[in-house]
Amino acid sequence: MLRAIYPGSFDPVTYGHLDVIKRSSKLVDELIVGVLNNKAKTPLFSVEERVKMLGEVTKDMPNVKIIPFEGLLVDFARKTGARMVIRGLRAITDFEYELQMSQTNHKMEPDVETVFLTTSLEYSYLSSTTVKEVAAFGGDISQFVPPVVLENIEKKRK
Ligand code: ADP
Repeated sequence: MLRAIYPGSFDPVTYGHLDVIKRSSKLVDELIVGVLNNKAKTPLFSVEERVKMLGEVTKDMPNVKIIPFEGLLVDFARKTGARMVIRGLRAITDFEYELQMSQTNHKMEPDVETVFLTTSLEYSYLSSTTVKEVAAFGGDISQFVPPVVLENIEKKRK
């Protein structure tokens, strides 16, 4: 049984994330979307809200589970019995950080491998940060995020 973790902040989940979730869930038996509760950052959405939205957008994917976590990714992998970590690569700018993270994680836990999916072309420009920026100025983000995220961002703005 191959279990993988797709970790991230998902603040909020975008169509780019959803594309990686769909594609990677077909490669493994079980995909855990690990929602990072990073106490050092102030997210727009609480970890509970992020988990709920991810649950909603993946409800038709039976082998996808949404689980929040704190602390080291390798500890979360050990706890859940996952041997693979999935990350998305958008552009060369992602590469340096991702390389460093995957090599550090591999040193700490040699049994866990990081696998990178390159983003689908139509989402390569998309990030949670730009979505939040556009939304903050009242721009239309309906082509970037699923409807449930759109509704929740509208609620936050009011
Ligand atoms: P983090 O804070 O860990 O970067 P994110 O929620 O921003 O978390 O991203 C989680 C993962 O999803 C990362 O591997 C990131 O590269 C990937 N990702 C983000 N946006 C996209 C996108 N538009 N297409 C493909 N992968 C993406």
